[in-house]
Amino acid sequence: MHPGRALAIVVRPMISLQSYVRGQWIAGNGDPVTLHNPANAEVVGDVRPGGVDHAAALAHARGVGGPALRAMTFRQRAEMLKGLSKKLHEHRDELIEISGRNGGNTRGDAKFDLDGATGTFAYYASLGKHLPETPWLTDGDGVQLGRTARFWSEHVLLPRPGVALLINAFNFPAWGMAEKMACALLAGMPVISKAGTASAMLAWRCAQIMVDSGLMPEGAFQFLAGSVTGMVDLLQPMDVVAFTGSARTGSRIRGNPNLIAHSVRVNIEADSINAAVLGPDTDVDDDTFTQFLANVHLDMTQKAGQKCTAVRRILVPEDRLDEVKEALIDRLQATRIGDPLDENVRMGPVASQAQLDDVRAGIKHLQDECDTVLGGPEAMDGPGYFVRPTLLQARDVGVAVVHELEVFGPCATILPYDGRAASAAELVNRGGGCLVASVYSDDKSWVHELVPAIAPWHGRVWLGSEKTMGHALGPGAVLPGSIHGGPGRAGGGEELGGLRGLQFYLQRTALQGDRAVIGRTYGNGESS
Ligand code: NAP
Repeated sequence: MHPGRALAIVVRPMISLQSYVRGQWIAGNGDPVTLHNPANAEVVGDVRPGGVDHAAALAHARGVGGPALRAMTFRQRAEMLKGLSKKLHEHRDELIEISGRNGGNTRGDAKFDLDGATGTFAYYASLGKHLPETPWLTDGDGVQLGRTARFWSEHVLLPRPGVALLINAFNFPAWGMAEKMACALLAGMPVISKAGTASAMLAWRCAQIMVDSGLMPEGAFQFLAGSVTGMVDLLQPMDVVAFTGSARTGSRIRGNPNLIAHSVRVNIEADSINAAVLGPDTDVDDDTFTQFLANVHLDMTQKAGQKCTAVRRILVPEDRLDEVKEALIDRLQATRIGDPLDENVRMGPVASQAQLDDVRAGIKHLQDECDTVLGGPEAMDGPGYFVRPTLLQARDVGVAVVHELEVFGPCATILPYDGRAASAAELVNRGGGCLVASVYSDDKSWVHELVPAIAPWHGRVWLGSEKTMGHALGPGAVLPGSIHGGPGRAGGGEELGGLRGLQFYLQRTALQGDRAVIGRTYGNGESS
């Protein structure tokens, strides 16, 4: 039976999403963009662009939200994040249902997104509890600048008196919004959050819950359901843009003349052709091999492969090829695909018709240079945006397309290699800069040769070994204590990473002068 056919028919009202701007919910006035249930292609709602005065929204954030947040201490802002985490968690079941209905997420996928959101708010709340009561943070120790210790310098970090424009991709409507909000709000910057349109219903409902909580001061949070185009042209020097999405849109934003002219800070989290490398020392019975299989399978099927951190290239020693293919085929074939809200289903559809078209075209493109091990781009019968889990094998591992084309769906390509660390590094780095590489080996000298060769090209290097089995989430999970982002192709951005994540929203200023004034007031220095 086609996966979409098992769906129960429940009639629900069409929902028209609204934006929350200047303390009010506002409907757009442009042509509606319809939102679908990806499991059966039914229309579930719409978003209308327009109707929002971008300049007034920005002024409201800068003039009302910013001062209110800066009047709070870090600890008070941390309390606010804790409250937001609790409020969203109270609505978890309702939000899981929305995540399935307008996003195609299985219950597991929805929890990954939602618990990621509440967990990130809670994590930053706990970090903020330990920050000082001062309106600034000091950065490092003070330094003597003059002939004597009288002339002194302290580096201080203060919230930028502007607005943080947060632009999110469609694939993580809850976590994507929360991870940016947590850092910006704790730092003391008001936010305007824009959801990816295709799955905006979940972000909109989270926004409603957070607004209704009354936890955030007026102007600290605004939400855009429609288009944000044009708003970046109005940003000013103290504003920032944190963007997550495709490399193409990221480049457009980075190249915006207004942002360049005013040196507006921009952080780009873009796409990435992440690699998993199986070391030559692993055997089929090893825990390390088991972890490798489990993580590759999870990355290919979780959120139907729509994760920026998902494995796209699988490097396998030539003498392990048959075992790896056989084991992955078994796991992928056993993956139950269907109605995402059915408890037993492990993989849902991709998020939209556009996404389905892109994924199928991308698989066809890869097939020009790769053999098909399993799956393919052929349409599945019936309604909905379902894609077959697709495993390919490159005929020539050097061919550009497998290192450059992101197929944002349940698809990955095996690249056989000779088992040498240098060969693996050379292939992995052809990704041109990635969010994460995962490496599976218990041969420490092989790992020590590989890691320094690939680390500069990656935001994270995830090392799986016998000792780590069962101890951690896989490389596809972004945890707030470690940085997220990657160089080059991945956008060159950096988010999260504990308190490092706040720095984007804070201005570092070196105060220089009489130590009695500077050291005592702003730092730990003793007055002389
Ligand atoms: P996208 O098409 O680039 O859109 C991303 C966001 O930018 C959306 O909110 C989109 O709004 C908005 N946007 C589009 N044009 C814009 C413009 N001219 N000015 C300002 N904003 C604009 O990406 P997507 O399809 O939503 O997301 C999938 C991509 O995101 C994948 O390539 C994936 O790898 C990447 N991604 C990266 C990360 C990471 O952390 N590195 C995380 C998740 C996803 P509309 O939706 O209204 O068009």
